[in-house]
Amino acid sequence: MCRLRRYMLAVAVFGIGVVQIGRSAAADSRLPPLTPEVCRIIDREYPSLDALYKHLHTHPELSYHEEQSGARMAKELKELGFSVTEHLGGHGVVGILKNGDGPTVLVRADMDALPVVERTGLPYSSKVRVRDKEGNEVGVMHACGHDIHMTCWIGTARVLTSMKDRWKGTLVFIGQPAEEVGAGARMMLDDGLFKKFPRPDYALALHCDSFRPHGTIAFTEGLALANVDSVDILVKGKGGHGSAPHTTIDPIVLAARIVLDLQTLVSRETNPTDPAVVSVGSIHGGSKHNIIPNEVKLQITVRSTKDSVRKNLLDGIKRIAEAAAAGAGAPAPVVTVHPEEFTPALLNEPKLTRRITGLFRELLGDDNVTERPPVMGGEDFSRYGRAGVPIFMYFLGTQAPEKVAAAEKEGKSLPSLHSDSFAPVTEPTIKTGVLTMSQAVLSLMGK
Ligand code: ZN
Ligand code: ZN
Repeated sequence: MCRLRRYMLAVAVFGIGVVQIGRSAAADSRLPPLTPEVCRIIDREYPSLDALYKHLHTHPELSYHEEQSGARMAKELKELGFSVTEHLGGHGVVGILKNGDGPTVLVRADMDALPVVERTGLPYSSKVRVRDKEGNEVGVMHACGHDIHMTCWIGTARVLTSMKDRWKGTLVFIGQPAEEVGAGARMMLDDGLFKKFPRPDYALALHCDSFRPHGTIAFTEGLALANVDSVDILVKGKGGHGSAPHTTIDPIVLAARIVLDLQTLVSRETNPTDPAVVSVGSIHGGSKHNIIPNEVKLQITVRSTKDSVRKNLLDGIKRIAEAAAAGAGAPAPVVTVHPEEFTPALLNEPKLTRRITGLFRELLGDDNVTERPPVMGGEDFSRYGRAGVPIFMYFLGTQAPEKVAAAEKEGKSLPSLHSDSFAPVTEPTIKTGVLTMSQAVLSLMGK
């Protein structure tokens, strides 16, 4: 009775399950084992986790520059008894904790922030400004919620180290740099993540969801996120006076033709049942009304879910750009695909996905665990799966339920990830993140 009351209290504090508060004692016996114990530890740790979150939020660092974030993550893990390696693949952190014979489970948090000036108006808004690689001053903000990820990751490490008698095996906690540029996972793997350290049997991660209410989880079984490629085209022409186009080869007209022709890659060349996106996100050329420039630069994001579709899109961009240039009698364009920015599609391993989401349903209630369709975004957590490890990434609701309901009613959208106004509600989002991740790991390693 006392245990149950304490648990009910924990749930009430969490706000994780209106469903659970209403459950009868008999129904509560369906809760995963160890839930009350995990809740107690989270409640004990929450004030310091909230402070950690606010510290990370006010000290964001861009991709490849996660020096302080990495150092802080390393320090936190060391204090918990992990053996820690720093600077694996840039500022990557690996913490290993061996606790007897059992499975090896990897838990990943990404650490980088974005070049965004924060406009949430929160008292702990980021004020950080840095120079980007072009020398321009930019704001820096955790607009993708990686500060929430790091906080939940440390919270999970604290729960698991407080409960060492309840599980067996090896924990591999990785703090990953450079997720936003699709490079960090590859850098850590290239630097020996699965060779120098125990190879995981499972890998888990969570990601903030900017549209869903806190206390809820969303997931996708199998294909969850897309292949992402970045392509540049340098369209070449022959510049001259705007009044005498016949003496020039106009790269602006040529670029316009290429932009439109590229859309036929999706609409005419790709099987309509295979998702594909070709978006020209940047087009730059010229300096004045009456000058035809020498060149125009295009930057393109390319999304697909199948390797065969990806290949046709990338080959097709080159083919279409070259054909358009040949048709205009222009010099051949320079088409550059950036392999270092490629992010492979993310596939959540079905058996692992079902196992963990079944647990989440017991923990949060069926209504709070939603299967969502795949989206054409990308996440380089996929690379650990491509390296042969069963992976599962789930999405953590971050918004006040009444705000979500009001937005739905008005047909409006809440700020998305990467928006300057993305503001996760810290409590109970962090608690739900720690609870779900801790229980997921315990379910894989529990005695
Ligand atoms: Zn992001
Ligand atoms: Zn992210």
